[in-house]
Amino acid sequence: MEFALIEAIRARVDVTRGDVALGIGDDAALLDVPPGQHLVACTDTLVAGVHFPAVTAPEDIGWKALAVNLSDLAAMGAAPAWALLALTLPDGDAAFVERFAQGFAELARAHDVALIGGDTTQGSLTVTVTVLGCVPRGMALVRGGARAGDAVFVTGTLGEAAGALRLLQDRGDAPVALRTRLDRPEPRVAAGVALRKLASACIDLSDGLLADLGHICAASGVGAELLAEALPLSSGSTAHFDAETCRQLALGGGDDYELCFTVPPAREKDVADVLARVDGSATCIGRIVAGSGVRVLDAGGNPVAIMHPGWQHFSR
Ligand code: ADP
Ligand code: MG
Repeated sequence: MEFALIEAIRARVDVTRGDVALGIGDDAALLDVPPGQHLVACTDTLVAGVHFPAVTAPEDIGWKALAVNLSDLAAMGAAPAWALLALTLPDGDAAFVERFAQGFAELARAHDVALIGGDTTQGSLTVTVTVLGCVPRGMALVRGGARAGDAVFVTGTLGEAAGALRLLQDRGDAPVALRTRLDRPEPRVAAGVALRKLASACIDLSDGLLADLGHICAASGVGAELLAEALPLSSGSTAHFDAETCRQLALGGGDDYELCFTVPPAREKDVADVLARVDGSATCIGRIVAGSGVRVLDAGGNPVAIMHPGWQHFSR
C-alpha cells in the first residue's frame, strides 16, 4: 500500500533535474550543489484544521504545502531546486494522494523543483515538506541587516488570505479571489532572487505583517514606523470589508506569503525596476527607525490600535 502511494506521488511529481545524482528509491538522495553556493534548507508542516481548513481541496493542500516552503527560500534570496515530502495520512486514500500530488506537481513544475524523497506514515492528516535550494555565498537575504533610515517594502497586496479565512469561518464560503490567496499562495521566488543585491533584510509574511516585520526589527536591533494609508490592499478585500477591517487584516492576518524587505535609502529608487523585470511589484509602507518594535501611524500621524498582533502556536 505504502509503496503504491509513493509510486503514485513519484509518477505525478515528474520534474527531473541534472543535479539529482540519485533520487527517490534509495535510503537517501544524492545532490550536486554548485561550487561557490550555499545549500539553503527549510521545512514547514501543515496540520489539517490548523494550517488549512478541513474542507480544503487535496490539490490545494499539495500546492500550499510546497508554496509555504518555497516562500521561505524566496525570503532568503535562494533559488529552489529539490524537495522532500513527509506525508501522514489517516488512511491509504489513493484518490486523495493522487489529487494532492497533482497540486504539488503543478507548483513544482512552475519552479523546476524535483521531488527527491520523503516519508509516508499513518496518522491524522499532516504534511511536512522540506525544500532545498542554492544561493551564491555572501548573497543570502537575512533578517538581521536592516538599519535605521532603510525603507520598508512589501510585495503584492496584503490581507486577502486572512479575509478569506474570516469569511469561511463566519459564513462558510469566500469569494474566489480571496479564496485563491488562501489556498494557492504564489511564493515570490523570482522577487527574492532579484532582491539579492538590493535588500538589506528580508522575511516572508506567514504570520502577519506586524509579527513578521517584528522579527526583522528584533534581529536587526531596530524599530519600524509604518503608514496605515500606504498598506497595499486588493479590490477583493476592499469590496468585502470596511477600510478598518482591511487594515487590520493586512497588519495582523497571516498566510500572505508576500515578501517584506528593507532597502537602504540610496537604493530605494531601484526597487520598482528590479522587480518589474521579474513581473513583480512592491509598495513602500514605512521606514526603519532607531529603537525597537513596530508602530503604525494613521494619516494624521497618530498611532493605530492593533487588534491581532499575529498568529502564534501555543499562545493559549
Ligand atoms: P526507508 O524505509 O529507507 O526510510 P521508505 O520505504 O520510507 O524508505 O521510502 C522509500 C523511498 O521512497 C525513499 O527514497 C523515500 O525517500 C521515498 N519516499 C517515501 N515516501 C515518500 C513521499 N511521500 N514522497 C516522496 N518520496 C517518498
Ligand atoms: Mg532506509
